[in-house]
Order: sequence, then structure tokens, then C-alpha cells
Amino acid sequence: LGEEDLALLDGGTEARSAAVVPPATVAVVGRPNVGKSTLVNRILGRREAVVLDTPGVTRDRVSYPAEWSGHAFTLVDTGGWETDVAGLDARVAEQAEVAIDLADVVMFVVDASVGATATDERVVRLLRKAGKPVVLVANKVDGPSGEADALALWNLGLGEPHPVSALHGRGTGDLLDAVIDALPVRAAVPEGDREGGPRRVALVGRPNVGKSSLLNALAGTQRVVVDEVAGTTRDPVDELVELGDRPWWFVDTAGIRRRVHQTSGADFYASLRTQAAIEKAEVAVVLVDASAPLTEQDTRVISQVVEAGRALVIAYNKWDLMDEERRFYLEREIERDLVQVQWAPRVNLSARTGWHRAKLVPALETALASWDARIPTGRLNAFLGELVAAHPHPLRGGKQPRILFATQASTRPPRFVVFATGFLEAGYRRFIERRLRETFGFEGTPIEISVRVRE
Ligand code: GDP
Ligand code: GDP
Repeated sequence: LGEEDLALLDGGTEARSAAVVPPATVAVVGRPNVGKSTLVNRILGRREAVVLDTPGVTRDRVSYPAEWSGHAFTLVDTGGWETDVAGLDARVAEQAEVAIDLADVVMFVVDASVGATATDERVVRLLRKAGKPVVLVANKVDGPSGEADALALWNLGLGEPHPVSALHGRGTGDLLDAVIDALPVRAAVPEGDREGGPRRVALVGRPNVGKSSLLNALAGTQRVVVDEVAGTTRDPVDELVELGDRPWWFVDTAGIRRRVHQTSGADFYASLRTQAAIEKAEVAVVLVDASAPLTEQDTRVISQVVEAGRALVIAYNKWDLMDEERRFYLEREIERDLVQVQWAPRVNLSARTGWHRAKLVPALETALASWDARIPTGRLNAFLGELVAAHPHPLRGGKQPRILFATQASTRPPRFVVFATGFLEAGYRRFIERRLRETFGFEGTPIEISVRVRE
């Protein structure tokens, strides 16, 4: 094992004591064609242009993990969502409003070569009202001759315009320094404090599955006064709800309660909110409508949770509408569409009648316990030793990779690193994952296995 590997092994304890702080959200806002997507690509260091030409194309992904000089943040990209020109003004404003609502810091992009337009002014009014920190981006300043155009944007009254060329990269370093300066200082919640403290839950799912009904049923009479619980990062859009004798943070409940208008951009808003809520949470409850066929939108939300590495509970709502026929199809759907997440606890309930509402807490607790779980290195290697002896990796081209050692590098979710003498096939990695789950549980949490090749 190399030095780096040994550091990783040590890192086990380090990762355990590191506190989980949700990264701050930076939203890139502005009217179409000012260069938002170009700027996002520049910040993420993506080569391929994701600048979309096709009208009506919706993207799944709206937020991305980003980093600048050691500071991690979540970048929300609102570019590429505008679909047609009619009523554009209103829609830009509406889109900006959602993004501003979610953001800790807003990057407001203006095309300096055009100057501020009436649409820009409209967004400026929203920004003033929201009172969030704003970093003003004067884009398309491709060379020194454009600097004067940037200066003209002082007139917007949003402070210093930062001249950049998203296309060529000019000025983007200084811009990101300004963004980092504007980020809120979030106190890391120490592990010890968090042990007994409220955990963060996201209630997500496609529109009309019953999120607000369930939230009302759960929160109903039991809303806790926030100040009663000390030592937590709080956000006015989160709500403290007492369930099963303990408080839980339900994140972004404002987004659930304030129903999104069914405009052409509704998918976008829903997707944006969902992603943001998942990232803020430790465990997500994905609500699906048991009375209707599972849709692609449902499975997409489930994938978002898994990809974000959060604990997962699937709640089948509207169970009061269930009949024998539907139940038959439901079981087949679960086998067909949810095989990838067989490990997720499923709860059948009815937000309307309150039936089985109490089953949610045990499922949340199970999923979180798995998410936090750590397998001691000794046990892990004893397990792998037996597994490999009974089922060695298949021989390929006369060679057979040997597994040398494994360790759990981190928790939340559990991440394993396997050291081997050669690349392990995807099928064999899945086999290891399946056996890990059979042996150690991990009900309700995604797990990750990566392989490091050592000669
Ligand atoms: P969005 O609609 O705000 O996401 O804007 P896009 O990122 O799609 O950019 C709109 C157009 O402006 C594209 O043709 C870009 O290539 C161009 N553009 C973006 N940034 C710059 C820049 O810094 N300089 C110049 N000259 N063009 C840019
Ligand atoms: P949201 O968009 O996910 O927040 O969904 P809502 O909570 O607004 O619910 C959408 C519709 O489904 C409303 O008409 C609710 O009354 C109805 N609904 C929610 N939960 C249930 C349930 O458990 N059973 C039945 N029959 N209807 C429900």
C-alpha cells in the first residue's frame, strides 16, 4: 500500500469526526442569452458546451457541486430553461424568484455589451426585495475595451460589477473570490451535538402525490417552537416537527406549502426545489401515489436521492384508494421499476386518513442508522476473505484480480475502498455490494464501492 492509501485508512477516523455541513447554494440568475450556461460551464470546468439550442428541452439536473479555493458550494444553473419568447419577462422573473428563494448567494448575470434592459431591472427589484447577497456579473467583457460597459452597471445599485468573459475565462477568478467572500459562514455542527439533535428530512415527490397533505398531517398540531432546540443551523424555510417523541427538521417546507403554479416551467421549479431539498437533507422520503402507475418522474426523484448519497425511504401514499387489482399491478411495478432500490424501506400510508402515519418514523430511523453505520475493518476483511474464497473473481485472459484488503473510508453514506491487484468487473462489484447488504444490512442507504488497483 502506498502512502496515499495509508492516509485513506487513517482517514477512517477523520471522516467520522468531520461534521456534515450542507454546502451553501449559489444561484446563477439572469435573462436569456446573457451567458449563464457559459458561466456555469466555466465554473464547473466542463469542456462540453451544455448551451441548449432546442426549445422546450428540459434538463434533469439543475444544481451541481462546485469548488473554488477550497470552498465547496452548490451551483444552481437556471440557464437553458426558457422555452419560448411570449411572456418571457414574467417567466424570467418567476424563475429568478424561485432561484433567489433557494440561494444563499445570487450571481446576477448581465450582458455588459448590451447594458441593463427592462427585464434586468425587473430582476433587480426582486433581488432588492429578497435581501440576499448579490454578486453582479458584467458578462461578455472579452477585452479591456469592454471595461467601460461594465462600469455603467454600477447604475443598477447592486454594488460593484465584476467584469468577466464567461466565454474566454477573463476575470472569472476574481469573480469567484467575490462569491466565496459572500458565502455565509456556516457553523459546522459537531458530531457530539448532532447525536441527539434533530435530523434533516426532505419530503419529495412529483406534484400531487400528497406532500403538503402529509406534511400537514405530520406537523398538524405538533409544530415545535424552533427556539426550544439549541445548537442547530436553521433556515426559515425549514420546519421543526415532532414525530415519535423527537423533533425532526423538515427541510424546505416553504417549497411544499407554497404550491408552484402549473406554468410551462413547472417542471423546472419542481426539479430545482427537489434537488435543493435533497442536498440539504440527511434522509429523503420520496412520496409516490400508490393509486396511479409509477411514472418516470417518480423514479427520477428516487435516482436524485441515490445520486446525492442520501438515505432513502419510499412512501406509498393514497393507500386508502387501493384495491385488489391496483395492488397486483403495484407489486409488479415494484419488482420491475424499483429493483435498483430494493434496499429502501417502503411504507404504505394515507395522508388523508392518517393511516400508518406512525410507520414513517421507524423507517426514517432505520435508514439513518444504516447511513451512519461503520463496519470495523477487521470484520469487513473477515467477510471479504470468506466471500472471495468461496466466489473468486472470474478468470479473464488468464489473469485473476486478487482482493488484498478493504476498508470503509467514510459514512453518510457508507463508502468502501477495495484494494485489488487488478480491475474488478462491474458484475463482481455488484456481487460484493449484494453480499455486503445481506451480511450487514444497510437498509435504506446507498453504498459506494470503489476499487484501487495495486500491483
Ligand atoms: P444563457 O441563456 O444566459 O444561459 O446564455 P448562454 O450561456 O447560452 O450564452 C448565450 C450566448 O452568449 C452564447 O452564444 C454564448 O456563446 C455567448 N456568450 C456567453 N458568454 C460570453 C462571453 O463572455 N463573451 C461573448 N462574446 N459571448 C458570450
Ligand atoms: P403535493 O402536490 O405533493 O403537495 O400534493 P397535495 O398534498 O396537494 O395532494 C394532491 C391531492 O391529493 C389533493 O387533492 C389531496 O387531497 C390528495 N391526497 C393527498 N393525500 C391523499 C391520500 O392519502 N388519499 C387520498 N385519497 N387523497 C390524497
